[in-house]
Amino acid sequence: MGDMVRVLEHKGVEYYLCEKCDMSYLNKDLANKCEAFCEEFKACNIDITKHAVKEEI
Ligand SMILES: [Zn+2]
Repeated sequence: MGDMVRVLEHKGVEYYLCEKCDMSYLNKDLANKCEAFCEEFKACNIDITKHAVKEEI
């Protein structure tokens, strides 16, 4: 398991995107955790997604 998350730049800020559920994070670790969880359980973990960026990017 490596770094599979996508990096997205928006207004000079880098966001890390879980490619499974399209949630974006400012923290790469969280994005990786989200993607690993989504991959394994085919669902999101609310304890992770609550840290996702709410702003539309
Ligand atoms: Zn996810």
